[in-house]
Amino acid sequence: MLLFLPLVACEGPHPAAATLPEATLPVASPAPVAAAPVGADDVRGEVGAGTTYATPWRERRGAADGPRLIVEAGIHGDEVAGILAADELAARLEVLSGAVVFLPRMNKPAADLGERSVNRDLNHAFPGDPTGKDYEARLAAELMAWVGERDADAVITLHESRYLHDGKNPKTFGQTVVYGVEPMPPILTGVLDRANAKAAEERERFRANYYPITTSSTEQFVARYGMLGLCLETWRGFPLGTRIRRHEDFVLALLDALGVAYRMEPPAATMVSKP
Ligand SMILES: [Zn+2]
Repeated sequence: MLLFLPLVACEGPHPAAATLPEATLPVASPAPVAAAPVGADDVRGEVGAGTTYATPWRERRGAADGPRLIVEAGIHGDEVAGILAADELAARLEVLSGAVVFLPRMNKPAADLGERSVNRDLNHAFPGDPTGKDYEARLAAELMAWVGERDADAVITLHESRYLHDGKNPKTFGQTVVYGVEPMPPILTGVLDRANAKAAEERERFRANYYPITTSSTEQFVARYGMLGLCLETWRGFPLGTRIRRHEDFVLALLDALGVAYRMEPPAATMVSKP
């Protein structure tokens, strides 16, 4: 039997977006994340500090100057692989030159609920409005300012898609890197080669995918700050571990191409159960 599913990819409207009143949102906890630097190589803060949508960021900074990359995830709260990949990279990446700034949960209320969005799709709310009624408009405005303050050369946003790219339809986003401003950024060719050298099978390979969305975060960052902006999409048909690994492979390939020097610390020790 053939099933004709609505084509709901990452950037599309969500078929069952939650419409919770803002009052029911989880309130930001009283911050284990300090606004002040905790070390020269590890700086932390919050976007939207003191609001219901406060969300932590962390900058891993090298001893030497160099290119600066922002790694974002969780603009759609149910796209967990990117969130977990950003968490793991933030914990394990030791930057030697340049800097990497991690913002794993752009839409933290949605991520806490495990939902794509709360009132509206945050990725269609840019450049935002500081006096907007929905928190998404205010959060988008704060994110615009925050990205500008990071003085970064590039930003990559980690997403997930229900559809594996079919080679033709740009809305099949799975295993693609999406750019929204032509021409294709020249750096992408080398990044794709590096990331795809680590693919365990053909379907894990990433392809470049041109798909502009004017009100998306990435395009607004590119337009306002002139930085390189990319969206990476893994395919939800893969197991979670594969999706996390492929997000990490691509981010590390992008760091290599940008010229950020780094070392990966070993994974945190895991509990070993007794036989
Ligand atoms: Zn998404």
